Amino acid sequence: MLEHYDVIVVGGGHAGNEAAHAAATLGSKVLLVSMNLGTIGAMSCNPAMGGVAKGQILREIDALGGMSGRISDQSAIQFRMLNRSKGPAMWSPRTQNDRHQFAQDWRSAIESNPNIHLWQDMVTSLIIQDNTVRGVTTQLGINIHSHSTILTSGTFLQGKIHLGLQQFSGGRSGERAAEGITSQLADHGFITGRMKTGTPPRVDGRSIDYSKTEQQPGEPTTEAFSYFRPLHRLDQHPCHITYTNPLVHERLAASLDESPMFNGAIQSKGPRYCPSIEDKIHRFADKDRHQIFIEPEGRHTIETYVNGFSTSLPKEVQLNAMRLIPGMENVRMFRPGYAVEYDYFPPTQLHHTLETRALTNLYFAGQINGTTGYEEAACQGLMAGINSHLKLKKQAPFILERDQAYIGVLIDDLVTKGTDEPYRMFTSRAEYRILLRQDNADSRLTPLGRKLGLISEADWAKYNAKQESLTQKENLLHHGSALPEEVNELLTENNSSPITQKTKWSQLISRPHIKLSALIACNEDLRKAFEQTPPHWLEHIETGVKYKGYIEKEQAQADRMRSLQDLALPVDLEYARLTSLSMEARQKLQDHKPKTLGAAGKISGVSASDLSVLMVYLGR
Ligand SMILES: Cc1cc2nc3c(=O)[nH]c(=O)nc-3n(C[C@H](O)[C@H](O)[C@H](O)COP(=O)(O)OP(=O)(O)OC[C@H]3O[C@@H](n4cnc5c(N)ncnc54)[C@H](O)[C@@H]3O)c2cc1C
Repeated sequence: MLEHYDVIVVGGGHAGNEAAHAAATLGSKVLLVSMNLGTIGAMSCNPAMGGVAKGQILREIDALGGMSGRISDQSAIQFRMLNRSKGPAMWSPRTQNDRHQFAQDWRSAIESNPNIHLWQDMVTSLIIQDNTVRGVTTQLGINIHSHSTILTSGTFLQGKIHLGLQQFSGGRSGERAAEGITSQLADHGFITGRMKTGTPPRVDGRSIDYSKTEQQPGEPTTEAFSYFRPLHRLDQHPCHITYTNPLVHERLAASLDESPMFNGAIQSKGPRYCPSIEDKIHRFADKDRHQIFIEPEGRHTIETYVNGFSTSLPKEVQLNAMRLIPGMENVRMFRPGYAVEYDYFPPTQLHHTLETRALTNLYFAGQINGTTGYEEAACQGLMAGINSHLKLKKQAPFILERDQAYIGVLIDDLVTKGTDEPYRMFTSRAEYRILLRQDNADSRLTPLGRKLGLISEADWAKYNAKQESLTQKENLLHHGSALPEEVNELLTENNSSPITQKTKWSQLISRPHIKLSALIACNEDLRKAFEQTPPHWLEHIETGVKYKGYIEKEQAQADRMRSLQDLALPVDLEYARLTSLSMEARQKLQDHKPKTLGAAGKISGVSASDLSVLMVYLGR
């Protein structure tokens, strides 16, 4: 009934959509099979995109030609740059999103790609011959054949929902769990595990007294995730902040024996950095309040998300405890919070391309690999989509290194170290943070996206025009000079010593507290050269000049690490004697006997610190 496809993508979540879009844009014929086509692009948890390290990932997806950043921009009802008070490596864009528009825009993006066909059905097993996956079998009894299959099943594989003492099968509230695939893959030698995640209640926005909360508006900015799409920002909506208190904590604590987290019903690990409210009051018993963000779910709905109150306690307990929070005394609940347990496959079973080691032409992307978060899922989908297409065309795989992108860090961490708790990205996971900034993802990755074929002619022209303009402006700062009478007043005001002779603009920018925007106001030539330059371009230029020394140092370290990739490893090296290596690395290296340090790094279980041990051993 359905024809043969180049790529079948199972799942229409963040990973599945990016995978389908990337493979199809590159020219593969793609079938996206999802259990419910009405939930394509659904945001299972909070209606927000980006944030610390995740915002950097969205910029990287956009720079490579992926869609998540663009779709987030279209549906954004608030934009903020987090961590502005910290160094530029930490700056992270975040949007609050209209959940319904986000999903609708994903659906439109998928439908507008003629290479993507859609089919609503549940995949119950894979067609496997000679350790190669050749398609899928669905619940409606259809066999669909393909060259590659990308599984992006999110929280659905044998999903079990917990709400107080109630438990039922489900992948997400109101949606069925997916059965069959896990046991089939286990029969083929795959190791499987269980993880859990949870979500807070959604409430009626009309029942909240916002006068008792603090308003948190977005930034009045024209900035967006996307480097390429013009921004038509629609009306912006604020969030509101309130706090729990000891009465709330007492109410929750009195029911802990009905919490599946505490009564033993849930055994699997949840996201450590997104704890449930019951976990927070237990682990941080000395804290007498926790922050709650009241977030709008969209422009055309009164449904409201209670961020910070994730819980799987019984629904009555959830409601009664919320009603003890200032501003929520009369709150009405639309949907209770809940927890979901699901199967995942420890990701050390994957190659860096996200193809599985055990079965050829089968790829995994997203939550199925033990990650948590939309952005983490989306970037894996993008990479799996690209690599499945490249393999079909017999081209070299596309792998990003740790100094090129957070996406490279994420995949390398997953494949080499694995994870036994939901993995989310943090800036601290990257060794080269000052290189991997949110403001330079385009210069890092767009030329690669263009080479792959994911960046259109128009976007490439836009990219080149921007780079040319930035270079001209940077040259002006490096070669042009300020006169003492132009800048000394500004310098003194900022506690910076005045200059006595002509001084390069770049030297002045390097000083603490001296802003490029303030210097521009001091000189007519600069004013002309920077006229109408968007504020975020100014920030990018300023960062490049201010942190030039750090950037060059980190780049030199990264280059050195890369040159060491070709370092030969002696064939008779006795890894068992190198006790500073992890036990797993010792065994794997002994078994694989890699020829070079680079090859050693591609072995699952051999981490960046194991590579450092080998370098020390080799005197490097
Ligand atoms: C209750 C809950 C709470 C969460 N809390 C957080 C949080 O606090 N922080 C955070 O960062 N992230 C959280 N998440 C996770 C976030 O939603 C996911 O990380 C992200 O959506 C994963 O994207 P994905 O594409 O891998 O999977 P999903 O977005 O879940 O998409 C999976 C898709 O696959 C389809 N599908 C599954 N199996 C089959 C099959 N066999 N056949 C056909 N279609 C199939 C589904 O219908 C769905 O379209 C939460 C998720 C849930 C459900």
